[in-house]
This record gives sequence, C-alpha cells and structure tokens, in this order.
Amino acid sequence: MFSLNERVAIVTGGSRGIGRACAETLATLGATVVLTYVRGEAAALETVKAIEERGGRARAMKADVAVSAEMDAVVDATVKEFGRLDVLVANAGIAVDGLLLRLKDEDIDNLVATNLRGTIASARAAVKPMMKARYGRIVFLSSVVGEMGNVGQTAYAATKAGVIGAAKSIAREYASRNVTVNVVAPGFIDTDMTSHMTEAMKTQLLSGIPLGRTGQSAEIASAVAFLASSEASYVTGQVLRVNGGLYM
Ligand code: NDP
Repeated sequence: MFSLNERVAIVTGGSRGIGRACAETLATLGATVVLTYVRGEAAALETVKAIEERGGRARAMKADVAVSAEMDAVVDATVKEFGRLDVLVANAGIAVDGLLLRLKDEDIDNLVATNLRGTIASARAAVKPMMKARYGRIVFLSSVVGEMGNVGQTAYAATKAGVIGAAKSIAREYASRNVTVNVVAPGFIDTDMTSHMTEAMKTQLLSGIPLGRTGQSAEIASAVAFLASSEASYVTGQVLRVNGGLYM
C-alpha cells in the first residue's frame, strides 16, 4: 500500500459512508485528516475518535460545501493548524431522485449547489495552497450514473457528469503546478444514500453487475487512496470506475 506520511488531507462529507471510509483509509496510511460535515456532528466526532483510537490524527469541521466561504474557511484553518494541504477528497454529496416531469426546480438547485458547485468551490479553495507548494492531489466523487444515466436521476446524474468535466478542466489548468485532479466514479455502494432501495430494485440492479454484488465504502476508499498518493504522480484528468463492472 501507499504511504501518506506527513500529508494533510481534507475529506468533505467525511462523517459517514464513503467519505468516512476515505478519511479512515487516508489516516491509516499516515495522513492527518480534516473531515467536514454539515448536519451530523455526532457521526463526525465518532469518525475522528475511530481514527484517533488507531493512532491517527483527525479533526472534524462543520462546513456546508454549498457555501463557498465555509470551504474557504476550512482550507484556511487546515493550513493554519497543520501547515499545509496536500490532498482534497471532494466527496460531499446528496441524492434527490424524481422522474423528470416531477422534478422541482428547488431540487435541481440543491443538487447543483451541493454536488457540482460545492465540488468546484472545494477545489478552488484547496488549489491555492497546493499551487504554492507545487504539490497537490484532488479527487472528486462522481457516480456510475453520471456516465450511464438512470431513470429518476436526471438532475443527480447531471451533477455527477458535471464534476467529470470540471476535474478534467482543473487538471489541465494546474498540471504545471504538479496538482493532479482525478475522479472516482462508484457504482452502487452500501451507504445511507442507497439504503432506501427496495429488495426488488436491488435484485434488478444486481443482475446488471458482473461481480454480482453491491460495493463497500472501503472499496471506494482504496481507489481514492491510490489517486491521493504520490505514487499516482502520472495520473491526471482520469475517471477511475469502481463499480463491479456495471459500466465498462
Ligand atoms: P452519504 O449520504 O452516506 O453521506 C454523505 C456525506 O456528505 C455525509 O458525510 C454528509 O454530511 C455529507 N454532506 C452532505 N451534504 C453536504 C454539504 N452540503 N456540505 C458538506 N457535507 C455534506 O453518501 P455516500 O457516502 O453514499 O456518498 C458519498 C459520495 O459518493 C457522494 O458524492 C455520492 O454522490 C457519491 N456516490 C455514492 C454512491 C453510493 O452508491 N452510495 C454511488 C456513486 C456515487 P452530514 O452527515 O453532516 O449530512
């Protein structure tokens, strides 16, 4: 495995699910991790405790990615306390499902504000110390549905396709500063976000997954850890699909 010793990482939405697994994995590899949350303070503190119990270093900070100033403040506080910022995992996201004809403007706006604008704003805040240091690893979380589409997920899928275009653009813009930007596109992962699925939906879904099962957050975190490591130095602007073969 890769070492992240001496590295400092921010994981947005690191309190639960995939973000929590990323925070734990990066910390296990030696990084100091600042994890953000917006509503779930108890879960965020529990994640910090779990990391510390294993000898790692972590902080939880409340920050809504949809409010750019709050992400700017997280980056400033991180650099002030830990002296640097090497890794950003822009993971925070929400899902609001609905067939096109029932999709409300308000739902579209919320999805765009959190998943797309929030991801871009997080990168905009993080890239400043990274470009100065001439080192950075930025990883965005997209989704299999950003590339495949999905019934009932028009707006969500659009935001997840959007982060791929954003990542490729930022990758081109900051390559000369040794800042890489990549995307992990998970398939269906067992988290709170997918817990509402009925057994019938799951059975239908599984039939399309060559590996025959849903994924675990830790399996996404392993891919993120690779892209966050110095060993991924020649990988930028890429989409790493971690989906059991659902989309190839
Ligand atoms: P969860 O719903 O389990 O967790 C979401 C996390 O994001 C929580 O930590 C939550 O914090 C945080 N969050 C939500 N809104 C905001 C906000 N405005 N500002 C800051 N933090 C916020 O989601 P998953 O772990 O399942 O998903 C993580 C990412 O992976 C998302 O971007 C999702 O779209 C993507 N993804 C997930 C898939 C899946 O199958 N689960 C598949 C493909 C992609 P709090 O607890 O405080 O609300």
